Amino acid sequence: MRRIGLFGGTFDPPQLAHLALARCARDALQLDELRWIPTGQPWQKSRTITAAAHREAMVRLTIAGEPRFTLERCEIERGGPSMTLDTVRELQQRDGAAAWVWIMGSDQYANLHTWRGWRELLQRVTLAVAERPGVASAAHPEVAAHPHTMVPLPPLPISATDIRARVQRGESIAGLVTDAVASYIDQHHLYRSADAH
Ligand code: ATP
Repeated sequence: MRRIGLFGGTFDPPQLAHLALARCARDALQLDELRWIPTGQPWQKSRTITAAAHREAMVRLTIAGEPRFTLERCEIERGGPSMTLDTVRELQQRDGAAAWVWIMGSDQYANLHTWRGWRELLQRVTLAVAERPGVASAAHPEVAAHPHTMVPLPPLPISATDIRARVQRGESIAGLVTDAVASYIDQHHLYRSADAH
């Protein structure tokens, strides 16, 4: 059976911990395909999110040339708030039988019980979780009791929030995003104003 990894995120911008996590999950879990899924309009983030077209373009730059990575546009096309369960239902209906793996950092894992329809989600996918430095809270007991896989990612203290703040302060983001993404951010003047944080 095909093993398909799903990796959702705001990707504002896609950073090198995302890339490391995706590569690590692809290789450790022997995924035939790993789909990056940029959110349309995230429902749990209050700040102004960068236009989907920019975030999509930056994901394309990040995954270019990477074996078995693809971009999945369904949340951008759907518009409105993105619910992970709706996305999983849509993809499973479209592509049928496969071993489906949802990939996430431990911050999202600790938060999972607040997602709409999380119990159904746990029936539909296997979770693959990577430790994220600075995440103190544990998962909800019912979430933790559900079988999940750990992705053997070393701790990488990188966040998109920090990258946006660095750009706003005029600091370098070399080594935090790919060179192509750093150039894209520069060319399109992203993250320079204070309301992008
Ligand atoms: P922001 O700082 O804007 O909240 P972010 O850096 O957390 O963004 P997202 O696009 O929200 O990036 O994250 C996408 C997925 O990648 C999430 O599952 C998140 O937990 C995971 N992730 C992001 N950064 C790391 C990291 N440094 N280590 C492990 N997982 C990470």
